[in-house]
Amino acid sequence: MIKTFRYRIKDSTNGAKLDEMARAVNFVWNFCNETQEHALRWNLRWPTYQDLCKLTAGSGKELGLHSQTVQAACEQYAIRRQQFKKRRLRWRGRRSPGWIPFKASGVKVDGDAVRYLGQGFRFWNSRELPGAIKSGSFGQDARKRWYVNFAVDCPEDQPTTGTKHIGIDLGLKTLATCSDGTKIEAPRWYRNRQKRLAEFQRKRKPRKVRNLHAKIANRRRDFLHKESARLVNECELIVVGDVSSAKLTKTNMAKSVNDAGWSMFRNLLEYKAIARKVVYREVSERFTTQTCSCCGAIGGPKGRNGLEVREWVCGECGAVLDRDVNAALNILRLGHQSLLAEVR
Ligand SMILES: [Zn+2]
Repeated sequence: MIKTFRYRIKDSTNGAKLDEMARAVNFVWNFCNETQEHALRWNLRWPTYQDLCKLTAGSGKELGLHSQTVQAACEQYAIRRQQFKKRRLRWRGRRSPGWIPFKASGVKVDGDAVRYLGQGFRFWNSRELPGAIKSGSFGQDARKRWYVNFAVDCPEDQPTTGTKHIGIDLGLKTLATCSDGTKIEAPRWYRNRQKRLAEFQRKRKPRKVRNLHAKIANRRRDFLHKESARLVNECELIVVGDVSSAKLTKTNMAKSVNDAGWSMFRNLLEYKAIARKVVYREVSERFTTQTCSCCGAIGGPKGRNGLEVREWVCGECGAVLDRDVNAALNILRLGHQSLLAEVR
């Protein structure tokens, strides 16, 4: 299994050298884009990865790059053009975060330094690599900080020892409510920092805006990683509602939807579940808030308008239901149903 490990490059290291190489990579990238434009203009065959490699062969030395880096840039160009079904890609310029791809044989890791083309770049060695490096890159974040990423061939994860079956209702008030009654609170960093962000924007301080955005993104990712890892550790079945943030982003709920990061949470849950042999399903969340999880009667609060209703009493069986826990229980039931249907 290939996993990526990211390490922050120390500020004391030779960052200027990385900036210089990143400019050279941009040059290669833009050359690919020019070649593509030329082909478009004259109605020629689009250059393939092999074509681009041939055209750039031998340029590494002049550009101060490893030949593998030049090739990797060409490869990424060809891949992304296909992936995004684009006729041409965006130019890479001074504003693009720096990016220098490499192959395993092009670098050597020695303690807390990675050697590339005879240069040593020191990084914060926060955790040991669990396997052999396959490939990697130097990359910059929005704050223009340098990182080194290693794609590592890791041993398979141990299957989970968890036994819980859990349905998860993704929400606005709380990020997620589990069918066992536990709630995962959505941290409101983004909202809390809105004021500061607006102030920076008003005062036209783009760097501060960028820094704040990067900080928020880092913390959110960290939080979602931890929560999804915990759930996968405890469960053997996870069922999630298919609520789409795309629909809600159009309404005034957009802020808190973005805050919660549903889709990222679902993606993390899914890939961690697969890696640890946890059964993961997504089910339609239609009627999950209105249906009583005790007797199945439909009588609960309707749609998003009923959002302020946190608790309700079922008219049929008299059960007192927490809106979100009830929905999570229904989601779990739907998950069980779909699993049974798969067996038949
Ligand atoms: Zn009922």
